[in-house]
Amino acid sequence: MTLKYIPGRNIQRRMVEKVQLWGYRCERCGHEWLPREKARDPKVCPRCKSPYWDRPRQVSKESEPKRRASDEKT
Ligand SMILES: [Zn+2]
Repeated sequence: MTLKYIPGRNIQRRMVEKVQLWGYRCERCGHEWLPREKARDPKVCPRCKSPYWDRPRQVSKESEPKRRASDEKT
């Protein structure tokens, strides 16, 4: 039996936005990277420097309808 290490390529199959187990993906430029600090989310995309890397490009908040109330309500 041989244990073969397969470099992560197929890992992000289901999770499109945030690949929790190994890294992140920028919604803006599509860059994928590994976080240095696992505990916290990166502030900006290391590649395009966008602080909104974790949010898909969207219209401004104002025109955005109410978010799913269940998510943010405390
Ligand atoms: Zn980016």
